[in-house]
Amino acid sequence: MFKSLKERLQSWAKNFSKKKQDEEELEETEEKPAKQSKKDKKAEKSAKKQKTKKERNKPDNRKGKKDKKSKGRKQEQKIEEEQQEIEGSPGEQEAENIEEKETEQTEAPKRLGFFQRFREKIGKVKISEKDFEEYKDDLEMLLLENNVALEVTEKIIETLKEKLIDKEFPKKDLLKEIQNVLREIIEEVLVEPFDILQAIKDKRKTGKPYVILFCGINGSGKTTTIAKVAEMLKKQKISCILAAGDTFRAASIEQLKKHGERLNIEVVANEYGSDPASVGFDAIKAATKNKIDCVLIDTAGRMHTAKNLLKEIEKIARVCAPDTKIFVGESITGNDALEQVKGFDESIGIDGIILTKADIDEKGGTALSVGYVTKKPILFLGTGQEYHEIELFNKKKFTDSLGI
Ligand code: GDP
Repeated sequence: MFKSLKERLQSWAKNFSKKKQDEEELEETEEKPAKQSKKDKKAEKSAKKQKTKKERNKPDNRKGKKDKKSKGRKQEQKIEEEQQEIEGSPGEQEAENIEEKETEQTEAPKRLGFFQRFREKIGKVKISEKDFEEYKDDLEMLLLENNVALEVTEKIIETLKEKLIDKEFPKKDLLKEIQNVLREIIEEVLVEPFDILQAIKDKRKTGKPYVILFCGINGSGKTTTIAKVAEMLKKQKISCILAAGDTFRAASIEQLKKHGERLNIEVVANEYGSDPASVGFDAIKAATKNKIDCVLIDTAGRMHTAKNLLKEIEKIARVCAPDTKIFVGESITGNDALEQVKGFDESIGIDGIILTKADIDEKGGTALSVGYVTKKPILFLGTGQEYHEIELFNKKKFTDSLGI
């Protein structure tokens, strides 16, 4: 589940933090030998100077006085020449002194930088705008390629920028820090789901059933999801009844009846071609009469753009007055799912989303962005074809599944 988004997000954060850490280390190691070589040069020069001075003061006792005098003069001249070569002419010497002073002056902030960085090494690092810009495009690309909507991608990048740039982070935990910030942002993007199970239990006290209307396009997994929800409610000791509101698609009524038989749950149905609103109405009446807690209404799949078919579901919604209207869509469809929720929301007003087939969704971007774009919470994730393969959607669990 969401393997591609997980792997690519993790490797992005790893590369980003590693590059920053490597850069810091490289700067430190480059600076040390440079300083050493300057020191070495100075030491070498002064050693040579010392040697020359000693030679100059050394008495020569091997030859006669005359010889000594003329040789001594020659030697002195030679030594002076050598000394000038080493020390340079007085003009050169002055220039060198200025140069040395300048070098020392320019080295001063560098030295400070080194100590600053040394402190950072045991403490903190700062991420610059340039560092971030270098890695921004990769992040944008990986999010878009994994079905994250453009709007959400932009929001993530903008917030990440605000939270990372010019902020100090412990150097050795940089990766963890970046992941924490990413996690915070993703949790901000996701819409907090409401507790539907508690809402159903609460309505029990009124003596009326809690009605849920399911909608979505063909094949998105509505009927299977209704059966999964029914089983989940049963496990929670919440009684329910199913309404076969898809009176259009061949075999849809039989499909729902089969689930009802397997789960030992009543199914209210009518003829194919009959009014689905009246099927829903009959189911609510039966539930009220028999003190059933919840009614789950199936509907025919329809495109969110088919105006006439949307009118039909608007009528079902009017007649049945559901407590919650749930859009069922496939996690693998990315932006299509977003457009579908928008279409159904305009028509009947959606309260929550169930994303099916999350088990075969490598990308995960739909789950990450559908809530933010539509402002509707994801309530459940369908994670397989079996009844128990449904999970209550949870922000923390989702970010855990991305490994951050
Ligand atoms: P409907 O036309 O919207 O009622 O869709 P169905 O309930 O008939 O489901 C269509 C197909 O999707 C069926 O083969 C289901 O078994 C399959 N399906 C539904 N939910 C899931 C799910 O969460 N994971 C997987 N892998 N398949 C699912």
